[in-house]
Amino acid sequence: MDGPSGTGKSTVSRRLAAAVGAAYLDTGATYRAATLAALRAGLDGSASAEQLVAAANGACIESGTDPDGPTIRLDGDDVAAEIRGGAVTAFVSAVSALPEVRDRLVAAQRAVITAALATHGGIVVEGRDIGTVVAPDAPLKVYLTASDEVRAARRGRQDARAGRGGDVATVLADVRRRDRLDSTRAVSPLHRATDALLVDTDELSAEAVLAELLRLVSERGLLS
Ligand code: C5P
Repeated sequence: MDGPSGTGKSTVSRRLAAAVGAAYLDTGATYRAATLAALRAGLDGSASAEQLVAAANGACIESGTDPDGPTIRLDGDDVAAEIRGGAVTAFVSAVSALPEVRDRLVAAQRAVITAALATHGGIVVEGRDIGTVVAPDAPLKVYLTASDEVRAARRGRQDARAGRGGDVATVLADVRRRDRLDSTRAVSPLHRATDALLVDTDELSAEAVLAELLRLVSERGLLS
């Protein structure tokens, strides 16, 4: 499952995984954890690429793949809440554009996928480059889209639920800034794999998107 932020990827990926008994991996959380490692090392936008790579790649990042309670740990700490904060969100696109950080995290993501296929028989993986780079042979690829305004409104509601402020204009500007950075970076930019099915979620509820995904999973013969 790929697509920009606010398209509902996390919600529907988790629900799809739970519905079909698959594991779930949020690769964005791994890039956020790597970014938090850089921030904890006292680094910011003025740091060199070498410093950022050393801090990000020196950290131990562990993803738990239960769709009913996914976890993310940085050097043993549960950082699920902290990685959603403003400091990480503002910096994550810069850290995730570094090829050495991507190489390391993509290898870790592939290891999680291999383990989940052995134990669960399947996994729903969400991110920006899953269909293009991480799992180009995935039996089903979906690319979610939605207009900038709808995505910003969804992100704003999510932030409010989590007790984080932010008016719609600020969230919209942040969503657009991250999209621009994520889609124009040199390595693994966000784009739809040629064989990914496009689902526009502007007019669709999470239930409707989930129903469409379940239909596709079944049509592909992926349910045992
Ligand atoms: O999905 P989420 O918004 O949490 O992702 C945070 C950031 O992590 C993205 O804006 C992007 O910079 C990066 N990312 C990435 N590749 C992925 C998943 C996320 O570069 N597969």
